[in-house]
Amino acid sequence: MPDRNEIVLTVLGAAGGYPYGGHACSGYLVETAGSRILLDCGPGVAARLLALGRAVDVDAITITHIHPDHTLDLVAVGYALMTEWIKHRTLHRVKLAMPEGGAAYLERLSGLFGHKYWTFTDDELGPGFASLREVARAGRDWMFDVFDVVEFAPGARVDLGPVTVDTLPVDHIPGAVAMRIDHAGKRLVYTGDTRWHGPLVDFARDADLLVAEGHFSGSHPPGGAHMSPAEAGRLARASGARRLLLTHLAALEDGPSALDAAKAECNTAVELAVETTSIRL
Ligand SMILES: [Zn+2]
Repeated sequence: MPDRNEIVLTVLGAAGGYPYGGHACSGYLVETAGSRILLDCGPGVAARLLALGRAVDVDAITITHIHPDHTLDLVAVGYALMTEWIKHRTLHRVKLAMPEGGAAYLERLSGLFGHKYWTFTDDELGPGFASLREVARAGRDWMFDVFDVVEFAPGARVDLGPVTVDTLPVDHIPGAVAMRIDHAGKRLVYTGDTRWHGPLVDFARDADLLVAEGHFSGSHPPGGAHMSPAEAGRLARASGARRLLLTHLAALEDGPSALDAAKAECNTAVELAVETTSIRL
C-alpha cells in the first residue's frame, strides 16, 4: 500500500496492437493510499491483475480509447466480478470511465455473448440471493451491474473518488484521450495512443512520470496514428518530464533500439515498460 504522498504505477501490459511474445496489451495499475485505478484493459491484463490477488481489487477502470488492445479484457474482468458476486453474495461494483460511445461499445461487445439473456435460478444461487436474479428477470445485461459505466467528453475531468483524472483529446481516433493524475504533489501522465500532438507538451508539463507510447520507429508510414520512440523522447524533453516510461512498442520493434532512439532525444531518465514492474513516485 503506498503511503499518502505516493503514486505507484505497476505495468500490467505494455504490448502495442496485440499481445505478442507472452506480453499483455495496455494496462497500468495506479495506486495511491486511498485508491486503486486501472488505466486501460487490453488482452492479457485481466490475468496480470488477478495474479496480484484473488479478487478484482480496483475501484475504477478508465479507458483512453475504444480499440481492442485497450479494452478487450473488460469482458474477462466483468466475468471475475460476476463470479465474485455469486460467491460472496456481495457485488463489488467497479466504476468504468470510458470515452463517449463507451457504453454502446460495451453493450455491443457484451451482446455478442448474450449476457442479457442469462438466467439465474434459486438452485444455482441459493436462497436469499436476489440481486443477480433480479438482473436476469429485468432482462438487463449484467455487465452494466458489475460495471458502473460513465462516459466522459474529451478534455473532461473524471472524478474517481479520491483521485481525479484529467483528460486531453489526442490525435489517434475520435474520442481518444491522454490522461493525467495529480496526487500529493506528484504528476503522472499517460499518453494513451496518439501520433505526435503538440498540446501534449503542456499537458505533460513537469510530469514526475511520463508513460508515452512509441509504437513505430522510422519505418512507419507518414501520417501513422502513433508516435515513434524518438518522438516520445522529444515529448519528454519538451515537457520537462523527469522520467519517461516508453511503452506500446509494436511487435516488430526492437526494444533496445527503441530505448536508444528515445534516449537520444532527451536528458530524461528513460526505461522500457516491463510487466509487472512497479514505479514509485
Ligand atoms: Zn493501442
